[in-house]
Formats: sequence, C-alpha cells, structure tokens
Amino acid sequence: MSLPGAPPIRNAATVDLEDWYQGIEQPCECWGGFEERIHSGAAHMLDLLAATGTRATFFVLGWLAERHPALVRRIAEAGHEIAAHGYDHAKFYEITPGVLRATLSRAKRAAEDAIGKAVYGHRAPYFSLTRRTLWAVDILAELGFTFDSSVYPGANWRYGIPGSPEGLYLLGDTGIVEFPVSVFSIKLRKVGIGGAYFRILPLRVTEWGLRTINRQGRPAMIYVHPWEIDPSHPFVRFRWKAMATHYFNLRAAAPRLRRLLSRHCFTTMSDAIADVRARGPLPRVTLDQ
Ligand SMILES: [Zn+2]
Repeated sequence: MSLPGAPPIRNAATVDLEDWYQGIEQPCECWGGFEERIHSGAAHMLDLLAATGTRATFFVLGWLAERHPALVRRIAEAGHEIAAHGYDHAKFYEITPGVLRATLSRAKRAAEDAIGKAVYGHRAPYFSLTRRTLWAVDILAELGFTFDSSVYPGANWRYGIPGSPEGLYLLGDTGIVEFPVSVFSIKLRKVGIGGAYFRILPLRVTEWGLRTINRQGRPAMIYVHPWEIDPSHPFVRFRWKAMATHYFNLRAAAPRLRRLLSRHCFTTMSDAIADVRARGPLPRVTLDQ
C-alpha cells in the first residue's frame, strides 16, 4: 500500500503489437491473404497513449518487426519500450525447444535492428509459458532476456499456472523477473486485467481489481492489442470460443482504455519492475513444484 504522501504505485501498460489475424490461430503461411491494419491500429494506440500521457511496453511480433521496422522505430521514438513477442505467434507447447530458440532469437534481432538497441523483455504468445513448457525459461535466459510477462497465475482454457505467485518474482536462478498477468477474484473466480477480460467486465470492476492489487502494495499490469481498438477489422470465422472472445465488445475498448489510463498511474514494464525492486528483493520461485 502507498504510504500517505508517497507517490502512487506505477502500474504497467503493455501492448502486444500484432495484427488482427495474428492472434486468432491462423497459420503464418496464410497471413499474407488478410487485410493489413497494423498501421492504423498502432497509430490509434499511439494517439491514445499520447493523449493520456502514458508510456507503455510494446511486445512486438518478430514477423512484423522484419516487415515494418519503421513502425517499431516510430513507437520507440514516441518514448515507449520495445520488447519481444515471438516470431510467428506460435504457442510454446506446440513447438520444440530448438524451434523456439531459432525463432525467438530471430524475433529479438528484428526488434533490435529496428530500434538500434538491445531488447530485454519478452512475452510468450497466448501466455503459453505453462508447467509443460518450463524448458523455455533457460532459452529466455540464454537469449539475454531479463524480464518476462508470460505466466497467467490461474487456469484458462489456453494457458495458466494455477497456484503460481500473483506478484513479481525471479524465475528460479536465471535472474529473469517474471511480471505475471494481473488477476483478481470475483466470487472465487479469477479474472485478468486486459484482453477479453477488459472488454467483458465493466470498467468499474476492472478498476476495483486494479485498486485491490495496488492496496496490496503491488503494481498491476494491463495488456491490450491494436486490433482491440479497431472494431471495424474484418470478421472471419474460426474456433467459436476463440472467436467469441476475439470479437466481444470491441467498441468499448478504446474509450475504456482512455478512461483507465487517465484515471490511474501507468508506465513501462521496466519502470514498474524497477519501482518494485527498489522497495526490496524479489522472491525466487521455481514453477515446477
Ligand atoms: Zn499475442
């Protein structure tokens, strides 16, 4: 909890930089057939962040960074932090360690080439760092990542490590700081802050969750995508459960995000992590137990 007169806790604002068709389980080979809307979506997101005076961390898909380095550079020049989000949005549990090492190092290099400096942050596509894929942690360390935001501390049909810590911690002895997805409980059910949760739950409920986390002395983190604030993006049919969450209440996302960012204190993930580390050492956690 903030002490009286102490500055408010700075929460982390994060954006997964991917186009509307890249997070809906369409194979990478088909991506060229979809209407590209990343430039307008990203421009809208940058405007919204600028209007609310918010610096954010953008987890960038390597496939996009290779094709649109000027866009990634523009985001960095606007004061935001650039991090990696895999190459082709493959889930960790559907690829081998060898494929992850090759594709993630390619994605990291593409982001670094775009901005001309090193990238230290990582988020797994679909938060797919689960108990089945803990082998990936050593690869993240090997590639030089120092912070990660890939663990959902609960159960979800696609991801999650139930029982894992909700606050920040060190991933074993790798030195990597894990900033898990922020969750709070509604009637014994855990929900997250960001993505479909942000569009499904009324804003006052998300804000209540954020304040609850801050009252526990911890920063919260929100994650959003450019396509969520682009409600006119094309409609395609795919797996119904994923389709329902992808298209639900898109029109609410931009005004809600604007209100959330203007009413609470947000910054980049690195800054939010630095604030926590300045207050004391982080626990070291081994997730396979
Ligand atoms: Zn993603």
